[in-house]
Amino acid sequence: EVKMQGGNSYRFFTPSMSERPAARLRIEQELRKALRHGDFRLHYQPKVDAHSGAIVGAEALLRWQVDGHEVYAPDEFIPVAEETGLIVPLGEWVMREACRQAGEWHRQGRPIVVAMNVSAPQFQHPDFHAVLQASLKDAKVPPSLIELELTERMVMSAGDQSRGLMQRIKDVGVSLALDDFGTGYCSLSYLKYFPIDALKIDRTFVRDIATDADNAAITDAIIAMARGLGKTVVAEGVETHEQADHLRRAGCSLLQGYLFGSAQTAEDFGRDLLPA
Ligand code: C2E
Ligand code: MG
Ligand code: MG
Ligand code: MG
Repeated sequence: EVKMQGGNSYRFFTPSMSERPAARLRIEQELRKALRHGDFRLHYQPKVDAHSGAIVGAEALLRWQVDGHEVYAPDEFIPVAEETGLIVPLGEWVMREACRQAGEWHRQGRPIVVAMNVSAPQFQHPDFHAVLQASLKDAKVPPSLIELELTERMVMSAGDQSRGLMQRIKDVGVSLALDDFGTGYCSLSYLKYFPIDALKIDRTFVRDIATDADNAAITDAIIAMARGLGKTVVAEGVETHEQADHLRRAGCSLLQGYLFGSAQTAEDFGRDLLPA
């Protein structure tokens, strides 16, 4: 299978290849080198207000590129980085860079909330909170402009311990979102238990919203429930006006997806998407 990537890059690699031991070992070795060489970038995808259409935030998405060409996609290298522990230094780089960029936009008078993805081994590392605080301080960014996207699985796995850490993060002023909601194991009662500000409805629900009545019903119920609990609801993977209309009517507050823009360089994001 030849998988097309953004721009004019292409590669002969499928996700299943990263499951092969030899391929994993190669990715691990290349990851170490790429960390030393600084071959990583963050691209930013807009999150828009469902009603006004204004850009209120951005999700930072990690890109591994050499000479402008993608080496591996996140779904290929992040699992390897998690298994090898390399996600700890890589995740720290992401955090520092996302905070730095949020601080820069803030100083330009364009205060948008920058969200970043956090992996379980990174979150569970004893230095996580210290790295977050140092990143905020060094970037001189108001913590209210930073959001962490966690997954159901990592939140659930450590129970009370995760909850304590999440509360300490909230105490700093950083907000928390639950990513890919609906795909994991999060029971509804956990939403009350954990100090989560926002839920991101997984794009598999959004995808079929206009064609599959069951998915539409599930999505509507998630939105209603989340709103009832006072959470912000973000829909991921919005690609059509039909999907956006449905989500807006159902009460979703923020929309994210190719309809509003895909992930792009900070330079392009700043130029094209933010009011001057
Ligand atoms: P995610 O956090 O759920 O991010 C959303 C993914 O969906 C991104 O893929 C984004 O490019 C893609 N996407 C956005 N809008 C649409 C749409 O309208 N349609 C479709 N089909 N896709 C859309 P990406 O950048 O390849 O990232 C994949 C996953 O890799 C992310 O899923 C996240 O779990 C992980 N990831 C990415 N960057 C980081 C990072 O810095 N740290 C960690 N730990 N994980 C990351
Ligand atoms: Mg995410
Ligand atoms: Mg997601
Ligand atoms: Mg995802």
